[in-house]
Amino acid sequence: MILEKEREKIVETGKRMIDARLTTGTGGNLSIFNRKENLIAIKPSGVPYQSMRAQDVVVLRPDGERVDGVLKPSSETKFHLAIYHARPDVDAILHSHQVHATTIACMGIELPAVHYLLAFSGDKVPLAPYATFGTQALSDNILSVLGNYKACLLENHGLITLGASLDEAFDTAEALELVAQIYIQAKSIGEAKILNSEQMNVVIEKFKTYGKQDSETK
Ligand code: 13P
Ligand code: ZN
Repeated sequence: MILEKEREKIVETGKRMIDARLTTGTGGNLSIFNRKENLIAIKPSGVPYQSMRAQDVVVLRPDGERVDGVLKPSSETKFHLAIYHARPDVDAILHSHQVHATTIACMGIELPAVHYLLAFSGDKVPLAPYATFGTQALSDNILSVLGNYKACLLENHGLITLGASLDEAFDTAEALELVAQIYIQAKSIGEAKILNSEQMNVVIEKFKTYGKQDSETK
């Protein structure tokens, strides 16, 4: 089976998304770009994570042409392909409907740096204006605000996170869910204090070596 490792990773990570309450049912989607093979493995559309098998995961070329798999690829294939085209640093994308981050997206606001863990995205999580799921308009709206961020809120919809690996995208989704919950709670008792860009730049720099045991700790 081509892209066997990537397809298995998508099945495994989909189940982890459900277990971590990052999505429910068939909501959200995920993909991996193997740049060496120039092939993308992406979740099939509308298939519950619990029953998804590796062979159900669809394999596409970067132009969207199907190479393997009989099911329809995710309805959000357009934005997955557009992000891989625009961002050579990204090899995996996760899209979720996680409750707290989606609540912020439903308020029509960006997620600010209320906690240093927001550096998983950058100095904020930008917000893509609403467009119907699966459309070119949604993909265009995401690309118009994404810049170099590792995450983007989708207005009245959910969150996407990007990484060099699917594990990285998953960790970012989990960290941002915590930050979003903290922001909602902080706002419920007053005005939240937001870290400034100087403070966040220090964290963003530190994150480049954090957790890497072979690099010097600063
Ligand atoms: P798919 O099942 O087609 O991936 O769609 C789920 C979703 O979250 C659409 O935004
Ligand atoms: Zn969605």
